Order: sequence, then C-alpha cells, then structure tokens
Amino acid sequence: MEHGGEHGLRVVVVDKFGGAGNGSTSASSAVVRFTYPTIAGVKAAWESRHCWEAWRDHLQAPAGEPLAAFNRCGVTILDVDFAPARMFTRHFDKVGVPYEKWGEGSCPGGCPPLTPAGTSRPVDDDEFFADASARLGALHTPDGGFVDDPQLAAHNLATAAQRHGAAFRWKTPVTAVMRRGGRVRGVCLKDGTELSAGVVVNAAGPWSGQLNRLAEAGGDFTVGLRPLRQEVHLVAAPAGYHDAGGDGGGPVLADMDLGTSIRPEGREFLLVGGTEPECEGVPFRPCRSSGRR
Ligand SMILES: Cc1cc2nc3c(=O)[nH]c(=O)nc-3n(C[C@H](O)[C@H](O)[C@H](O)COP(=O)(O)OP(=O)(O)OC[C@H]3O[C@@H](n4cnc5c(N)ncnc54)[C@H](O)[C@@H]3O)c2cc1C
Repeated sequence: MEHGGEHGLRVVVVDKFGGAGNGSTSASSAVVRFTYPTIAGVKAAWESRHCWEAWRDHLQAPAGEPLAAFNRCGVTILDVDFAPARMFTRHFDKVGVPYEKWGEGSCPGGCPPLTPAGTSRPVDDDEFFADASARLGALHTPDGGFVDDPQLAAHNLATAAQRHGAAFRWKTPVTAVMRRGGRVRGVCLKDGTELSAGVVVNAAGPWSGQLNRLAEAGGDFTVGLRPLRQEVHLVAAPAGYHDAGGDGGGPVLADMDLGTSIRPEGREFLLVGGTEPECEGVPFRPCRSSGRR
C-alpha cells in the first residue's frame, strides 16, 4: 500500500491465481459460527455476522449487483468434553452473542431428527454396535448460518475494493519480499516487477506462513499457521432435516468429539465435512465416550 487514493492509501492487490476467491475460499463450506475458543475470535466472528446480514450495505453495492447471500439457519454444536459449551458461553456472555443451551435430549429451538448413534467407537471395536447409554446436550446459536457462495462473496469484496480505488494484478505470484533497514519495503513478482510499498498486508491464507518466511517475519508470533487438508462430501439430506431449519434449510450441526459437521446445501442435500483431518497429524480425539446419543 502507498499513500494516495480516496482514503489516503493506494492499494494494489497481487494474487497468483486468475481471480478473487480462487484459493481455499472457493472450497469453503462457508459456515458462519461464533464457537471460537478465544474472545478475539468470538468478537471477530460476531462482528462479521453483522456484515453478512447487511452485505449490500457493507459493500456499498448498487442494487442489481449479484451478491452472495447469508442463510441464518442457526448453528448447533454438541456439548462434548473436547469442546464443552462453557468454553464458548463465557465469551458469548461478554460479547453479547445470543445462545440457547439445549439440555440432554431436549431441543426447544426445533432440531433435526438426530438418530441415536450408538457408542462412538471405531468400527473394529467390539462395542461399535452397542446401544447408546448416554445423552448429550448442545449449544445453539440462532444467528449462525452459512454463506451460499463463498467465491461470489470474494468477488463482491474485490468489486467493492475496486470501487474504492484498489487495483488488482492477477496471475502474478510474489516470489520475494524486499526489505530495507529491517523493514519490509515491497514485493518482487514472478514477472520481474518490483512493487515498493510502505505497508505489505499478507492475505495469502494457507500460504501465509510461506510468505512470512519470505519476509523473514513471524519468528516472534505466538500463533502459527499451516495449511490443513479438509474433506467435505455432498450427500442427500435425510427426510425431515430441511423442515427443521429456517428458510435456508436445516441447521448447521457440529460434533467436535467425532470431528464432523453438516450444513444444508440447497433444499435436498447436505455438506458433510471433517473438523480436523487425521492425515495431517492433528491429534484426532480418541473415542472416549462410553455411550452417547
Ligand atoms: C474444505 C474447506 C472447508 C472450509 N469450511 C469453512 C467453514 O465452513 N467456515 C469457515 O469460516 N472457514 C472454512 N474454511 C476455511 C476458509 O475457507 C479459509 O479460512 C478462508 O477461505 C481463507 O481465506 P483467505 O482469503 O485468507 O485465503 P484464500 O482464499 O486461500 O486466498 C489466499 C490467496 O492468496 C494467494 N496467494 C498465496 N500465495 C501467494 C503468492 N506467493 N503470491 C501471490 N498470491 C498468493 C492465493 O492465490 C489465494 O488467492 C474451509 C476451508 C476448506 C479448505
């Protein structure tokens, strides 16, 4: 970024792909939830929710411009030892995020027909086919939901940025970060161009750790970042699921113990995803529960 432009900054966005939202954003399940373990995470998610709800105003987009839509279908997360409701409600109370705590077996907000799943044991465990012997509660946030087209949302943001004077250079990978006097001074692009800038914002998503290394930055960060593979499948929704939710379909459900989440996709389907990929070396939760529903 350099000084100039409408708000005092001249912004050039450099991206190695051919357009906005072609990175991990295009593959995202786009669930908007508030269940983050830090208060900073909860605040950021809660603030974003207001932007999604008033997307056209947020972007100052003219009427008629096609925009991504936010579906407020609610997000329900099972209250499990690995991610107990209290871990989130202590922040919700401070930030003002509305929530309902569903007791064991009761879903006053109207939940989808959850089938008792038996024990959460691996298939090669003798107890896999045993009946469930316990029930779980859940934490429901009615204001959560999902964005129907995350790639379009990224396009919307790029178009809004252009309206405010930002320039875009697509298919131009950053190959080096220029430094002078201990400060970042700009970037070098693959085509040989050098872009000098007073401020360089690293928005490289899963590649941002790599870019930090090019910039020799991040050594003192307390939070690291690395890409993780995520698996998401499109399956037919069971009967009754969509009727239990709002206009956008059935609610989003997450089970951090089993490491799965589901969200509606159209009126007939579900997206089923994992919350932590075992293949990436993330310690997958062992099946601790003796029996649950
Ligand atoms: C399958 C899946 C499901 C997900 N589900 C959810 C969900 O339900 N809810 C949720 O909140 N999050 C979800 N996420 C995570 C979410 O998608 C990401 O956190 C988010 O999209 C990251 O956005 P970003 O703009 O930071 O990165 P990206 O969208 O990945 O964009 C990074 C950009 O940086 C560019 N870039 C990288 N390196 C360079 C370089 N050297 N030079 C130039 N350009 C470069 C890339 O070309 C890319 O355009 C999911 C992710 C996946 C993969």
